[in-house]
Amino acid sequence: MRTQEIIAAKRDARELSESDIRAFVGGYTSGELPDYQMSAFLMAAYIKGLSFAETTALTRAMIDSGATLDLSAIPGFKVDKHSTGGVGDKTTLVVVPALAACGLKVPKMSGRGLGFTGGTLDKLESIPGFVTALSRDRFITQVSEIGAALAGQTPDIVPADKKIYALRDVTATVDSIPLIAASVMSKKIACGADVILLDVKVGSGAFAKTIESARELAQTMIAIGEGLGRKVGAALSDMSQPLGRAVGNAIEVREAIDTLRGSGPPDFTALCIELSARLAHMAGAASLDEARLEAANSMTSGAALAKFAEIIRAQGGDPRVLDDPSLLPQASITHPVASEASGVVSEIDTARIGVAASILGAGRERKEDSIDPAVGIVVEKKLGERVSKGEPLAIIHANDAGRLPEAESLIRGAYTLGDSAAVPALLLDFIGRSLRTSNFGPRTSYKK
Ligand code: URA
Repeated sequence: MRTQEIIAAKRDARELSESDIRAFVGGYTSGELPDYQMSAFLMAAYIKGLSFAETTALTRAMIDSGATLDLSAIPGFKVDKHSTGGVGDKTTLVVVPALAACGLKVPKMSGRGLGFTGGTLDKLESIPGFVTALSRDRFITQVSEIGAALAGQTPDIVPADKKIYALRDVTATVDSIPLIAASVMSKKIACGADVILLDVKVGSGAFAKTIESARELAQTMIAIGEGLGRKVGAALSDMSQPLGRAVGNAIEVREAIDTLRGSGPPDFTALCIELSARLAHMAGAASLDEARLEAANSMTSGAALAKFAEIIRAQGGDPRVLDDPSLLPQASITHPVASEASGVVSEIDTARIGVAASILGAGRERKEDSIDPAVGIVVEKKLGERVSKGEPLAIIHANDAGRLPEAESLIRGAYTLGDSAAVPALLLDFIGRSLRTSNFGPRTSYKK
């Protein structure tokens, strides 16, 4: 089919063949097909959906848009975890060093901010000197030598995702189950991990607002991954409020450092331990309780922090930030957002907090916007906490006073106060099996 016919077929909810999807993605990656045609396709897919076969075909086409990593020379299981995106979600900065400190190999490819959610690459790049664009060889060598690498999509690996991801961000086509599934799984498969844990976020600060849609997203990604020979599990975790207290880039790095020192916020610390333990257990750790203990120990003993220092050094960053976080970029203005009433925080429209952080400059409102690593929001009041009139709900960290009024009004509007609150569990569900208990066979490598 010609390009216009492919777009029209999706617009009319007709099923596309693997070869049509492959040609479309290939044409876009090579630059033959312009942004406006891919935008039209994405919107048609967003509105009409993609079948499981189409979603798998899209994932495969995205993987085949570039090279795939062969990590078979590195002994042991290679593990990876990926979040579907949230607000204040800095788990990668803790879980990756913790897992590497526990002896696992973690080839981790992350993304930039998408929609109202923050991006791991933007957070890492707030560390002076830190480079996230790694060549294939450097990525593999680093995983082999120090146990982990944290990189972004490159022109070499899943280039289709790099382009489509940025386009979705500015065409209102982010929160689509097939598009998220193909984006996440193409990166995960291309990077070569054997065991993959998906952290599927659920709630007002996630793309999946309900447990049902989160489950559908998780099951779609698991089916794609298992179909391509990987062991995949999914944690469905709460995102009905920001994770931890910091939302921004450098301020989230600070909070991750505190957590690696064993003094992070309790919810964030608990989630990092749980995700690390689940992934270690999926990869064959004897028991989940032992894996939890080991993950927690890596944080209190300083082993995970030392591993983070190694990663930072290997990627050109300044590891002194770990001992002296004042070396991280700092905003010139701190501005409290005072509550206009007293009560218990009963609801937080978490996406609004994410949008407020973007408006301050922590994310991109438009494709060409640059990121200000220093700005963000520290959430002072979380679900179930009591606030008195005049007390701060949050503290804004800004560099441009002109952006304060809009951010402040978004943050204030995000809060609902009542008499009481139901605080959801952090881990809402887990879908997956341990290698020890499953009959999951040896990995069949993915072939074009
Ligand atoms: N993370 C990704 O890598 N892609 C998405 O589409 C959403 C979250």
